[in-house]
Amino acid sequence: MKAEILCVGTELLLGDIVNTNAAFIARELARLGIDVYNQSVVGDNPQRLKESLELALERNDMVIMTGGLGPTYDDLTKETVAELFGRKMVLHQPSMERIERFFQHYRRVMTDNNRKQAYMPEGATVFPNDNGTAPGLAVEQDGKIAILLPGPPREMTPMFLDAVVPYLEQFSGSTLYSTNVHLFGIGESQVETILKEMMVSSQNPTIAPYAKEGEVRLRVTASAKSGEEAKAMVEPAVEKIKEILGEYIYGIDVGDLQTALVKALQSKNKKVAFAESCTGGYLAKRLTEVPGSSSVFDCGVCSYANEIKERILHVSHQTLADFGAVSEQTAKEMARGVRELSGADIGVSTTGIAGPGGGSEEKPVGLVYVGIATEDSCEAYELRLSRGYQDEREYIRYLAGSHAFHLCLK
Ligand code: ATP
Ligand code: MG
Repeated sequence: MKAEILCVGTELLLGDIVNTNAAFIARELARLGIDVYNQSVVGDNPQRLKESLELALERNDMVIMTGGLGPTYDDLTKETVAELFGRKMVLHQPSMERIERFFQHYRRVMTDNNRKQAYMPEGATVFPNDNGTAPGLAVEQDGKIAILLPGPPREMTPMFLDAVVPYLEQFSGSTLYSTNVHLFGIGESQVETILKEMMVSSQNPTIAPYAKEGEVRLRVTASAKSGEEAKAMVEPAVEKIKEILGEYIYGIDVGDLQTALVKALQSKNKKVAFAESCTGGYLAKRLTEVPGSSSVFDCGVCSYANEIKERILHVSHQTLADFGAVSEQTAKEMARGVRELSGADIGVSTTGIAGPGGGSEEKPVGLVYVGIATEDSCEAYELRLSRGYQDEREYIRYLAGSHAFHLCLK
């Protein structure tokens, strides 16, 4: 099976955005054993789109397109495919209901343009969109296949993994099984260096790292005749990764740090409370993003001012005067204070210097203390989180939260 990736969008041609969709899809197709022979980009112009599509289907068996599925007049990908394949556009009722629910949920007004997104070339296979309104679709004719996906990566990527991969498996002649190994406290390049030999020598299963905000996810994927067989190939590789990188692994197929923490606390039947200074509520926000977090989260105090640290959390005036707000001592007293205030099993605190101003030689930007108080211990951990370039404040605050979650998991 020969495939072409065709991305639609004038912004791509102008270089205003980088074509991350093509890179993502190319990697995924390689994993599925589908050969990509060409990649191309075309602007939002119906005539040139038609020409590019014709060329793609002439020289390849399959074309995977992204972009131009939106509701506006310049979103013409679907109509162009329908015309080329000689199909009528027909209403797809489940998509219409989904779009209506989406608008109800966000209390937004639905227009005729939005309804247009529920019309599909007759006979198409439809891929639901859980993160937007435009469904994806596949149309097959005379041994040729066109797959159309939305442009925004946050819509396209989950759709691809959840719906397009299972659809494509019929052409790759095998079934895939994947396991995700989640790591923290190690960079992507370090993971690659350590696992290089294993990653290069192992073709099936493949081992692919994905890095995001201080975390690394290793996806181990095998393809075989059956899911069981593929799973049996993945498991020994995961065991080997555990042997090599065990100290950095915080979970297997757990999603992210906050989800892992909610699960861990649920299984131990424990509750947590936060006293946040430099993270300004980030810990509470991230933990409560996880469904079911109400069973493990008591409260968060956003104690930005020293006066609140004293009055609400009972940090001693002397401690603040002697060591300052950003100190091991204050972090400990904040953690202990919020634990007592809430009655939770674990009190967690953050205090630090997120920058860009406010740093000194003794206490530079990026210095953060995380306090953890339990029934029988109270510890503070010093972090140095500066990376010295753009969005540093956001980076420090986010990473302080990740470290705090990771320390709670230990
Ligand atoms: P929308 O409903 O948002 O109009 P669409 O399916 O019509 O979605 P486009 O209008 O082509 O998609 O693109 C929407 C946005 O998605 C772009 O502004 C861009 O931010 C992003 N995007 C589109 N194509 C790509 C791509 N190939 N790589 C990365 N990002 C992309
Ligand atoms: Mg659009």
